[in-house]
Amino acid sequence: MLDTITSVERESRTNLLTLEEFGAESARIGREIADGYDRYHIDVNEVDDIDPLPHRFLVKVGKIGLAKFIAKEVLMYFPHFDVIFSRPCTYGVFSGPVGGFAPRPKLCVGCLRCTVQHPDFVKVLPNPKMLALGDSYTTHGHIAAIDEEAKRGMVPVRGQGYRGRFGGPGFDGMLTDMSEIVRPSRDGIHGRELIGTSVDIGSKPMHLSFDENGSLLDSVPDMFTIQIPLVFDLPPGDLGSDALAKVIDSTSNLVDTLACLDANTASRLEMDAPNIVPVLAVEDAARASEFHAARLVELEGWDAHAFEAAINATDAMVGVRIHFDEGWQGMLTNAVDSGAKVIHLLADLHGRDQDGTFVSDLFKEAHMLLIEQGRRDTVTLLGGGGIVGADHVPKAIISGMDAVTLDLPVLFAIQGRSRGSLKHRDKVRGKLPKKLDHDWAVQRLTNLCGSWRDQLLEILGAMGIREVRRLRGEFGRSMVVKHLEDEAFGEILGYHGGEYA
Ligand code: SF4
Repeated sequence: MLDTITSVERESRTNLLTLEEFGAESARIGREIADGYDRYHIDVNEVDDIDPLPHRFLVKVGKIGLAKFIAKEVLMYFPHFDVIFSRPCTYGVFSGPVGGFAPRPKLCVGCLRCTVQHPDFVKVLPNPKMLALGDSYTTHGHIAAIDEEAKRGMVPVRGQGYRGRFGGPGFDGMLTDMSEIVRPSRDGIHGRELIGTSVDIGSKPMHLSFDENGSLLDSVPDMFTIQIPLVFDLPPGDLGSDALAKVIDSTSNLVDTLACLDANTASRLEMDAPNIVPVLAVEDAARASEFHAARLVELEGWDAHAFEAAINATDAMVGVRIHFDEGWQGMLTNAVDSGAKVIHLLADLHGRDQDGTFVSDLFKEAHMLLIEQGRRDTVTLLGGGGIVGADHVPKAIISGMDAVTLDLPVLFAIQGRSRGSLKHRDKVRGKLPKKLDHDWAVQRLTNLCGSWRDQLLEILGAMGIREVRRLRGEFGRSMVVKHLEDEAFGEILGYHGGEYA
C-alpha cells in the first residue's frame, strides 16, 4: 500500500514538474509573441508654430485708471514689485516690463477676472482678426482647435467645462451616448484594454456558402485594412501643390491610411504606392493601368463605361466618387450593381447637399439604402464634406460611414489660411505657409491624426465599444437634439420645432 502511494505521489510530482515546465515554456512563448506584437500607435510630438494664429482676445487697459490702481498697490505692497505688476492677472498679461501699460494679450485665456475686478479701466474683447478666420461653418473655433491638436497631438482640454450650447446646427445637433463611469475597463486612450480603430476597405460577402466537401463557394472577402478611419482627400480649390501632395503622401504612409491625389499629380510625382489613391476623371479611366502599386483608384463620378474601362485596366479596387447631387441614390445603386466595392460620398464643405440636407442625414440614407438592398457589407462607404472637428468623425461613422475623408482640416493643421467662403470645393481659396518645411508639416498632420484618434478612442471607450467598425450605423448610440426637443416640448403651445440656423 505504502509502495503504491509513493508511486502515485512520484507520478503526480512528475506530472506537476511537467506542468510547471509546460507553464514556463508557454509563458516564454507568450512573452515572445507579446514582445513581437506591435501595438498600433501614432508618434505625436509637439512642434512649434511657424505662422501662429491671431490671439483670441484684445486686452484694453485705461492708462489713468491703471496708474491710480498701481499707486494704491504701491502703497500697500511696496517693495514687492512682482506682486504689484502681476495683478490683477495671474496668467501674466500684466507682467511685462511695464506691466499693464503694455499688456501681453497673447497670454490672455479670457477668464474675465480683470474686467470683473476692474470694470472701470480694463476691457477684454474678442480679437476681430481671430473671428475673421474660416467661414460660417468652419469657424475660428474649429480652426483654433485643429491648430492646437496639430501642434501638440493631444486632446485639447481647457479645464473650464463646456461653455457652449447643448445642441446646434450640423453635427452639433447630434449627441452621443456615453457613460464611461459604468465601463471603467475600456478606458479610451489610457489603453488598459485595446480598442481598435482599424477599418476594412473593400468588400465582404454577406454570407459564406460551402460545397459538400466543405470548400468555400462564391465570393471571398476582397479588402485591405487601414489603421484609422481617416483618409486624406483631394485638397480643395487652389490648395493642391506638389509640396502638399508630398506631405499628405508621407503622413498617410506614416499613420497607415490612404491619400487621394489627383492622378496627374500622382503620376508626375511618381507616387505609385499602396497608400496613394489616384483619382481619375471618367474620360481617363483607362489610365488606372499606370498605377501598379495602388490598392484603390477612384473615378470622379459615376459612368458605367468608364467604370468598366478602369476595372479592365487595373487589378486595384476601383472606387467611385459620388457627390450628393440629384439622383445620387440611383448612381450609388448602379455603381454597386456593377461591382464597385468602395463608394466615396461627398457633400459640399458645409456638409450639405444642393437642397440643404445635412450630411449626417445623407450618410444615413446611403447606409440604409444598402441595408435595404441587403448588401451593406459588400461596399465600403467613405464620407466627406463638413468634417472639421474630431467629434465629427464618430458622428459620421454613427451615421453609417466606414471612414471619413479630410479636406480643410489638412490646410489648417499646417497653418494655411483661407479667404472667403469655404462652401464649394472648387471655389476654395487659400494659401499654405510660405516656408512649408516637409518634416514639420508631416509632424503637424501626424499630430492631428493622433489627437483625433485619441478622441475617437475616448468616445468608443465611453460607449463601451471595442472597435470603430462596430460603431458604423449605430444610430441607437446617438440622440438628435431636434427629436429630443420635439418629444419634450412638442405639445407645448408656442413651440415651433427645434430648428437651428
Ligand atoms: S481676462 Fe483673465 S487672462 Fe485675460 S487679462 Fe484678464 S485676468 Fe488675465
